[in-house]
Amino acid sequence: LLISFEGGDGAGKTTQISLLQQYLVSERTVDEDLVLVTREPGGTPLGERIRELVLHGDHVEDKAEALLYAADRAHHIASVVRPHLARGGLVLTDRYLDSSIAYQGAGRDLDGDEIAALSLWAVGGIIPDRTILLDLPPEALAERREAGTLDRLEQEGQEFHGQVREKFLELAAAEPERFEVINATLPREEIHRRVLDAIAEDLSR
Ligand code: C5P
Ligand code: MG
Repeated sequence: LLISFEGGDGAGKTTQISLLQQYLVSERTVDEDLVLVTREPGGTPLGERIRELVLHGDHVEDKAEALLYAADRAHHIASVVRPHLARGGLVLTDRYLDSSIAYQGAGRDLDGDEIAALSLWAVGGIIPDRTILLDLPPEALAERREAGTLDRLEQEGQEFHGQVREKFLELAAAEPERFEVINATLPREEIHRRVLDAIAEDLSR
């Protein structure tokens, strides 16, 4: 079972993933080793180096950036995610291919369909069973930005993040069976409950 968490910067993906991981292990008694929590970019030693380059390195041209994210994802899927799924494991990933379609395909001026095709090629067609989109309205993002330290991308303007958000919502509307859209400004316990509702069927399979 592959579950991806998507959404803008500061939407609370990491928090919700760890709440879900705790729930699965403590309440559902899923073997700890069977629950893999991972992220993109990152998730592998090579991926962490790519993450450093795209988030904290010098300026990266748009197409080069798209290819670096695709390289990270190809390596992540082949070396970590696919083997884990193959042994019956459950994977919770903090971002996956929808992030590329939203960030590189909409935030940057690249073609969303081309980015989608590139991502699908990179992962050999592995699509999440369920995608949780934590939707953060632009005003809420602005508030959260003031709180923490920002990486290169988080410093992008309102317009960039607005386009990314719209693209995420568009992707969700196009695939309502896969996506669950949750308002990220709700209290975290309420978001957690909605996440559990969204994946209840997947867990009982
Ligand atoms: O998930 P997290 O907030 O750690 O993501 C790190 C950064 O990478 C974010 O600022 C996000 O904007 C950026 N990103 C991106 N394109 C992707 C994935 C992440 O621009 N495909
Ligand atoms: Mg971040």
